[in-house]
Amino acid sequence: MKSVKCDVCHSDLTPEVNQRGLFHIAHRDICETCRDQLESTIRPVIRTKQPFNYEWFDRFVRDSIEKAIAKGKWEAR
Ligand SMILES: [Zn+2]
Repeated sequence: MKSVKCDVCHSDLTPEVNQRGLFHIAHRDICETCRDQLESTIRPVIRTKQPFNYEWFDRFVRDSIEKAIAKGKWEAR
């Protein structure tokens, strides 16, 4: 059985063990809780970005996730 862990909070997301949602974002495995955290972290910044740019958005999401992984927690910018 392949074990799956959230890349940020390391909670066990193996489907047989955990029924919580698992999301693949920016080539990372992210649990539902962390996805919510990611959203609330990036939403205020995205609101200020006019006009919206998908390349910027992709990079911003990836950077935010990598930063959370490096720090082991979510941080508002
Ligand atoms: Zn998580």
